[in-house]
Amino acid sequence: MNFAENLNLIQQRIAAACVRAGRDEKSVTLLAVSKTHPPETIRAAMECGQLLFGENKIQEAKSKIPLCPGKARWQFIGHLQSNKVRDAVQLFEMIQGVDSLAIAQEISKRAEQAAKTMPILLEVNVAGEGSKFGYAPEKLLAELNALNALPGIEIHGLMAIPPFATVPEKARPYFKKLRELKLQCEQILGAPLPQLSMGMSGDFEVAIEEGATLVRVGTALFGERVSNVRKEAE
Ligand SMILES: *Cc1c(COP(=O)(O)O)cnc(C)c1O
Repeated sequence: MNFAENLNLIQQRIAAACVRAGRDEKSVTLLAVSKTHPPETIRAAMECGQLLFGENKIQEAKSKIPLCPGKARWQFIGHLQSNKVRDAVQLFEMIQGVDSLAIAQEISKRAEQAAKTMPILLEVNVAGEGSKFGYAPEKLLAELNALNALPGIEIHGLMAIPPFATVPEKARPYFKKLRELKLQCEQILGAPLPQLSMGMSGDFEVAIEEGATLVRVGTALFGERVSNVRKEAE
């Protein structure tokens, strides 16, 4: 695994996707998904200039983040339980994956206690998969004003994890759906939502063509996750 090479290649692919979509390259931010990778790997990534990272477990983030001092910024991309919200508010600059009023209320409360306003993304279950977290679109639209009224959070946009597909094109309708849902949300709120977090290693180019502003890339940058390698070896 050569992080510098991978990063360079991903940046080129992001730039090319932006050209295809007639978008400014700067309108897409690369979030390096560092979950399961050790602090030394993250520090090496930081030396290559990658400073935005995503983690999906509070415990893991809590032990790793202090070991990666410097200019790194961290976003939470997992499913948050209410007893972990206090830590999440301290550790992360943004919480992606908020999918209920209850968890949003807890984040708001804890953020206010910490004298902060927490940027969040609302997670949508775009394919209606029973096994996945995320708002059903209708429920999100119904709760949006209540979410927006919470004083300690600031809604920055939407995020989704579409069904796994070996062919990236298959994810396109779900990315499109999330983009359209963001427009509906903006109409309800009467304000723009800057972020559309969608696209991972296998499909980030299609996501960019459909309007992604934040792509969450793990494997294509860092190689296979340790836990996966171990599972395969078993
Ligand atoms: C693990 C993870 C990713 C990264 O997936 P890759 O396929 O390794 O790029 C992106 N988003 C979320 C929410 C994840 O949990």
